[in-house]
Amino acid sequence: AVEEKKGEYLEGKIEVKGGKGNANIGYFINKKLHVWCRLSNGMWGSGTIQSTSGEESIVSLSNGNVIKVSTSQLLPANPGILEAVNDLIQLSYLNEPSVLHNLKRRYSHDMIYSKAGPVLIAVNPFKDVQIYGKDFVTSYREKATDSPHVFAIADNAYNEMMNDGLNQSIIISGETGAGKTETAKFAMQYLASLGGGYGGKECKILQTHCILEAFGNAKTSRNDSSSRFGKLIDIHFTALGKISGANIQTFLLEKSRVVQLAAGERSYHIFYQLCAGAPPALRERLNLKMANEYNYLVQSDCLVINGVDDGQKFQKLKEAFDIVQICKEEQEQVFAMLAAVLWLGNISFQVIDKENHVEALADEALTSVATLIGCAPHELMQAISTHRIQVGKDSIAKKLTLQQAIDTRDALAKFIYASLFDWLVEQINNSLEAGKKHIGRSISIIDIYGFESLKKNSFEQFCINYANERLQQHFNRHLFKLEQEEYDLEGIDWTKVVFEDNQECLDLFEKKPLGILSLLEEESNAPNSTDFTLANKLKQHLNSNSYFKGDRGRAFGVLHFAGEVLYDTNGFLDKNRDPLSSEVVQLLSSCDSQLPQLFVKKMFNQPLQSVTSLDTPMQSVALQFKGQLFKLMHQLESTRSHFICCIKPNSKQLPGTYEEDLVLQQLRCYGIFEVIRISRSGYPTRMTHQAFTERYGFLLSEPIESQDPLSISVALLKQFNVLPQMYQIGYTKLFLRTGQISALEDRRKQVL
Ligand code: ADP
Ligand code: MG
Repeated sequence: AVEEKKGEYLEGKIEVKGGKGNANIGYFINKKLHVWCRLSNGMWGSGTIQSTSGEESIVSLSNGNVIKVSTSQLLPANPGILEAVNDLIQLSYLNEPSVLHNLKRRYSHDMIYSKAGPVLIAVNPFKDVQIYGKDFVTSYREKATDSPHVFAIADNAYNEMMNDGLNQSIIISGETGAGKTETAKFAMQYLASLGGGYGGKECKILQTHCILEAFGNAKTSRNDSSSRFGKLIDIHFTALGKISGANIQTFLLEKSRVVQLAAGERSYHIFYQLCAGAPPALRERLNLKMANEYNYLVQSDCLVINGVDDGQKFQKLKEAFDIVQICKEEQEQVFAMLAAVLWLGNISFQVIDKENHVEALADEALTSVATLIGCAPHELMQAISTHRIQVGKDSIAKKLTLQQAIDTRDALAKFIYASLFDWLVEQINNSLEAGKKHIGRSISIIDIYGFESLKKNSFEQFCINYANERLQQHFNRHLFKLEQEEYDLEGIDWTKVVFEDNQECLDLFEKKPLGILSLLEEESNAPNSTDFTLANKLKQHLNSNSYFKGDRGRAFGVLHFAGEVLYDTNGFLDKNRDPLSSEVVQLLSSCDSQLPQLFVKKMFNQPLQSVTSLDTPMQSVALQFKGQLFKLMHQLESTRSHFICCIKPNSKQLPGTYEEDLVLQQLRCYGIFEVIRISRSGYPTRMTHQAFTERYGFLLSEPIESQDPLSISVALLKQFNVLPQMYQIGYTKLFLRTGQISALEDRRKQVL
């Protein structure tokens, strides 16, 4: 009968004859149990089966309608007592509508967090939910509640770090707008409150959000404040568990946004904040106008965000600068660089000969930039209108065409902005770490851009999705592979759960010499290559790969774990090379202002004098990114990872709106159903026999003959009446099902 098999239905199907693991249809009819059936509109409806002819059944829906459906399409619904459970692994019937319904019920009661075994699911509320106050921090700290929460994850990580001495990581994934950055902030808020009281470091750490968001976030069509960079924050703790410092690492800032915007989107918040909030004296010093006077900002027809006061944010930013000890002079220089970038976009060119060669106009824009970066207007004009070429021993200046000049100007703007961003991160890190070398323990929080599949996908999406592919592998490996391997290693019998590994897709990117990254590199260094030749080269070498789809023209497709994405190679080579002309480099290195010089120095990572020959090609963007990513993965390998999966319940950023299909697609793409299956069939608690005996051995009521840890473990399990199906004994470790350890823990606490 069904009750005996409760908890065993991995998929939960309803069958005419009750096969093993399936629910018998007769039973469902007799007991008037609820089922799920697909309605014509694609949604799931619940109802009860009235009658069946075997292949077809008549279902009476909860809304009063009666419909005829194919029996094989019916799925069992969970009993009411299991509605809105904390942890999806508690569902008796695990199927897509049941999981969706469970999350929806919780969501409608503002219970935005749920567990899927070890993974925390966070459904974006798109409104303030009152669950992050001090009272909540306290109750998670004191374990007064077991309701799923980002605080519980942070608390767990903290405890494991303190108890086991292992570094921890909290990996937050999800689509853009799903709530990753907010979730990361709450995790940090919690850790800061636990580890606070040490020179106010925790306060500083929280202030860094404000700065990073101003410079690294922008309004996109999907998120009013979308992070356009990835970040890893390592929070360092002393042996006593107090925060001793932190370090921020950023990944791949979307530079193109500085000079080019899609309709309805904005550039980085800071530009609008500066234009709206700068006081009169500063405006005068920077010759600053309002946002609508700058070409870079007006191009997208979107200058403000509903409900956001940019001027006020500017005041907050300045306070944050003060707190992380960026001094007033440095702040002034930062603002000058921003103004320079804005004015660069207003520089225009006039055609001066029949071959369409141009020269920059000597107008207010040109002189403003020159003043702000500290050079003479004619030097700036030269640098963005000409290109020096070597003819024998001499070098002669060649005029640029209009497009070349615009590209050179824009490259300068992007370079200044991206360098400024990196410089700021460095200042913040100096302030957080105060020059100390960290040796203690740490918790790393990773908030990296989520998987993106847009109407038009370019180099940025290519890199972002590659990073997600890598993170997904870490997720898979960590949860599934390591899990299974450990069971196998320990000689534990368990039903194997099949899971997707994305190694083949990663190979498509990384294989040498015939992977996308290698081919991109080759083409980036080849003379006369274009985006077309790149597309052709990829097709020529990769068409036989089942994860690659050659498309017509410049595009190619990749079959990612989260779905297929079509990439347009338009601009790939240029974005990957990210060239900066030698004229511009020379200009910046001879500027009077400090920052431009510093930026150039940083780029070459060597003393300025030697920056004369620019023949050595710099590392391309994709390769640099790959290097960063490998370093990150390496770092993660040595931590105990905790996963938070953020879900976007609707694409309109609206509260109270739950679109089933959108949620389902995300749950599938993050492999949540596999996670639940694994956790239900697995033994999440495990300890070596040695550790188990050391911890609980003294609870043995009667001494036993053998002193070896395994025998003592077995005796303890007997004494505490742990049922045989609730544990397995491995060669070196004991494996327990969820919830089994608590009786021993409770007893231990009582005795101690
Ligand atoms: P992502 O980083 O995944 O792109 P964000 O963290 O920027 O997404 O979240 C997008 C928006 O969703 C936020 O600006 C905020 O309005 C809302 N949001 C996300 N998480 C929460 C939360 N826990 N509580 C309230 N609002 C949230
Ligand atoms: Mg974000």
